[in-house]
Amino acid sequence: MQLESPQIDKRLLGAIEAGGTKFNCAVADMQGKVLAQAAFPTTTPAETLALARNFFSDAVRARDTSLAAMGIASFGPVELDRGAPNYGFITKTPKAGWSNTDICGYFRTAFNVPVAFETDVNGAAWGELVAGAARDCSNFIYVTVGTGIGAGIVVNGKLLQGVTHPEVGHMLMPRASLQDDYQGCCPFHKGCLEGLASGTAINKRWGINGKDLPDDHAAWDYEAHYLATMCVNLTQCFAPQKIILGGGVMDKKLLFPLVRSKFLELINGYAPESILTRMDQYIVPTGLDGKAGIVGAIDLALMELGTVQVSHSL
Ligand code: ZN
Repeated sequence: MQLESPQIDKRLLGAIEAGGTKFNCAVADMQGKVLAQAAFPTTTPAETLALARNFFSDAVRARDTSLAAMGIASFGPVELDRGAPNYGFITKTPKAGWSNTDICGYFRTAFNVPVAFETDVNGAAWGELVAGAARDCSNFIYVTVGTGIGAGIVVNGKLLQGVTHPEVGHMLMPRASLQDDYQGCCPFHKGCLEGLASGTAINKRWGINGKDLPDDHAAWDYEAHYLATMCVNLTQCFAPQKIILGGGVMDKKLLFPLVRSKFLELINGYAPESILTRMDQYIVPTGLDGKAGIVGAIDLALMELGTVQVSHSL
């Protein structure tokens, strides 16, 4: 009897990190290895979705194969309830022209494949779990501090999803311990976390972008105070093994020691020793340096096929 070599699945996985500024697209093989990448500006849905679709069409045609599944991690708000009639939509977004866009359905129809759909921050959190700073965790929180603030919360190896996805950026902030007379810029709450500590808030409070502020500017004490307060609240609510801080604002690396130090002050000993004595392993930077969203989207695509992923190579 002739032995046959095992069939290798030559199909591809499609991944999109759909941001408000650009769509990062990638195709990967069935082991998660990225084979091609491209980015397109987020203009109108018709234009941007077509550019992404053409990228995937060209990629599969060039390799004489087809897509097996796709994973999309999108800016929002988005509908993640699979039972909802508008599952897979970007819903009511301030991004002009994008409200009620059926982004998931567009690609499901275009390629006739299963499509996994998550928020952009959940996608990045998933990437950290698969190949980043949370590889050793089953309970952790990934927070992105950029134009806005959002978080993906992983509990027992799964993304936390309630009635909707968590909105950590809109937790309300106590003001008592700081002489802070800035009102906050959130149109809903003014002084929530996002209203006080997002990149937008830094810009509006000081009249200058965070990246242009010197390291000794008072802005970083305010920023550390609010981010540390968030970390204390997340620690007490979810008891994570790790809190990962990513996003453009966290490119200011001096924030990490400031946030850790302020966290210790605010939590005042009320946490396990394993956290208090290992702060540099508890509040940590991203392990994927901007690639977490795409890595997460690839793995979500594999999961949509019922396949467990083990490693990635970018
Ligand atoms: Zn708010």
